[in-house]
Amino acid sequence: MKILVTGGMGFIGSNFILEFLDKFPENQVTNVDALYSGSNNQNLVSLSNNHNYQFIKGDITDEKLLGNLIKDNEIIINFAAESFVDKSISNAKPFLKSNVEGVFTLLELIKDTKKRLVHISTDEVFGSLKNQSANEDHRFNPSSPYSATKASAELLINAYNLTYDCDCVITRCTNNYGPRQFLEKLIPKTIILALNKKPIPVYGNGKNIRDWLYVSDHCSAIEKVLFEGKKGDSYNISANNEIDNLTIIKKILELMDRSEDLITFVEDRPGHDFRYSMNSEKIRNELRWKNKVNFEEGIQLTIDWYLDNRNWWENVSEKIFNPTPWK
Ligand code: NAD
Repeated sequence: MKILVTGGMGFIGSNFILEFLDKFPENQVTNVDALYSGSNNQNLVSLSNNHNYQFIKGDITDEKLLGNLIKDNEIIINFAAESFVDKSISNAKPFLKSNVEGVFTLLELIKDTKKRLVHISTDEVFGSLKNQSANEDHRFNPSSPYSATKASAELLINAYNLTYDCDCVITRCTNNYGPRQFLEKLIPKTIILALNKKPIPVYGNGKNIRDWLYVSDHCSAIEKVLFEGKKGDSYNISANNEIDNLTIIKKILELMDRSEDLITFVEDRPGHDFRYSMNSEKIRNELRWKNKVNFEEGIQLTIDWYLDNRNWWENVSEKIFNPTPWK
């Protein structure tokens, strides 16, 4: 099978490609990525001699390039996106281009071919929830420019499924953590700052809740949807592991033997959603998926990976020292 992965030089896409080729070495994977923020070209160096993997630098809004690649592949998995909420607050334009126009380009190219498109979306499309957990039919209520672009992409995909009978499937995941995540995100940022004994900025009162999913569990869910997901359906992927930011930071400090005095409360992110939560019974029941890595194990694996891979992050680590990156 020939699979086109977009955005595979970023955090989740690179983990997916590594795990997928490890499990199905006879398949061919083409990775097209524009090497924008979130990417790290060291992510897939281990595949440089693998004849079943090729990397192409390119933007998913490039119709000609993507047209040729889609012709040559059977399935497309779209990870490509501008993914950092804080940056979408200071400048939303690149988010509209990659996250909406990029998806529109893919849809236009697949609509006559009927090839399967698996699109990676987010729990953030449902916005902040007080008590309940969103199932697949929950109403969209995005708060940030980032989540608004992800919700827009989903609406376009639904429209193409209904209008042109496309074979698109949407996955929505909760916050991922694990190896190769860009340093600006909460967990890697905390690990690197703790290692360097630098102040760790916490937005607001640190009580915002996310449901943390280890990246390899997310990859196994995508694999299920890729092969068994129902045409036109969407699947929520969550870990049932809701934790607030402050608890996560304290846990990392404890595991790294660092003082809680490093914690520094800073101005809250504008429009900061309090809690995301999704119900993932559908993928658990219909596709028999379950997450395997518990938080204790996953956070230790993540800390160990960053400590063992300093050359991966050392030349980009200055980017994380701005406590309010949306400014
Ligand atoms: P990331 O920022 O680490 O990687 C995104 C990749 O997409 C980068 O390599 C970037 O260069 C590439 N890219 C961006 N725009 C592109 C374009 N126009 N053309 C080609 N490549 C482009 O992001 P991630 O954390 O790996 O997220 C992957 C997907 O999962 C995204 O769609 C994101 O919205 C979604 N998601 C992520 C999380 C999470 O916790 N990380 C949670 C929910 C959903």
